[in-house]
Amino acid sequence: MNWQQLEPFLYQQQDILIMVHERPDGDAWGSGLGLGLVLESLGYKPRLPRPYPIAESYSWMPGQHLIQQVPKGELRIPRDSAVILVDCGDQQRCEYFLGTKKALLNADHHISNPNFGILNWVDAQAGATAQILCRLLFEEGVPVPAQAATCFYTALVTDTGGFRFSSTSSETLDIASKLLACGADLTLIRQKLWENRPKTELVLLQEVMERIEYLAAGRGILCALPYELLTAGGLQDTETDNTIEVLRSIEGIEAVLLLKETSPGLIKASLRSKNFLDSSAFMASLGGGGHIRAAGCTLQEPFEKAKEKISRLLTESLTNS
Ligand code: 5GP
Ligand code: MN
Repeated sequence: MNWQQLEPFLYQQQDILIMVHERPDGDAWGSGLGLGLVLESLGYKPRLPRPYPIAESYSWMPGQHLIQQVPKGELRIPRDSAVILVDCGDQQRCEYFLGTKKALLNADHHISNPNFGILNWVDAQAGATAQILCRLLFEEGVPVPAQAATCFYTALVTDTGGFRFSSTSSETLDIASKLLACGADLTLIRQKLWENRPKTELVLLQEVMERIEYLAAGRGILCALPYELLTAGGLQDTETDNTIEVLRSIEGIEAVLLLKETSPGLIKASLRSKNFLDSSAFMASLGGGGHIRAAGCTLQEPFEKAKEKISRLLTESLTNS
């Protein structure tokens, strides 16, 4: 892995498409926009096609001019373009169909990544995809503009739960320090990430608290949010990360499983664990994936049936491990 590997594949007028995963989080946006801004500063022409508008919680991030609204199925990928996927555990997570086009670069930190790119900058030990990108940029002395540093820092701080998760290493902190030296705007990041949350998060927290179910003699917490509740409360796009963290922080809790019915019969499951449950393996058995302590999957079946099935499986896993 090194930054120089990329340059022979790129030229200045080329269409460079940077893609992130569905429902992009701080690391997806931070890595995608940060890399886009670095490439732009080097004279390249990157863009980030997206089928949906950026969520309000990330619309403050620098580099918004690189985002292009392109509906699914309408993305033209020129033959000599370069496709870069960031933070995508597998190619299907990027929402656009690449056809015969092979991704030039696959930059990611998911343990289950099958190395689908021509270049694969994959390191499951990294706290965030941005950590891998920054490692290579700093190693080669490539200048990181302040706005890109703001994006990368946001990626690191969100994907490591504010430098608390076990994925945080001395390299994570070293890179965070270097990003501050490059001019990352910590005041902006702090205000947007932690001092200006949408009010709907409080409503969601309240709904979650009313629906907590304990599993496996109190070792697990399940919370299932049906479609009608989310839609009536305008909560479909409300982020759940902070809510889940509140539950995981409680003593004796090993795992928190949150189910969101995003459309009737389509359920997004998020799992977080603390010390021993392999979340990634649990979700892989249901067609999903992720990291050892944070993983997800999508279930397509009636809500109650999905809830019953996944809660039984989690109870078994917590009881047997
Ligand atoms: P979240 O619960 O925040 O959606 O996801 C937690 C972690 O698991 C993230 O790193 C995310 O990329 C990954 N993840 C979530 N859903 C899926 C899925 O359906 N498939 C795979 N492979 N990974 C997922
Ligand atoms: Mn990530």
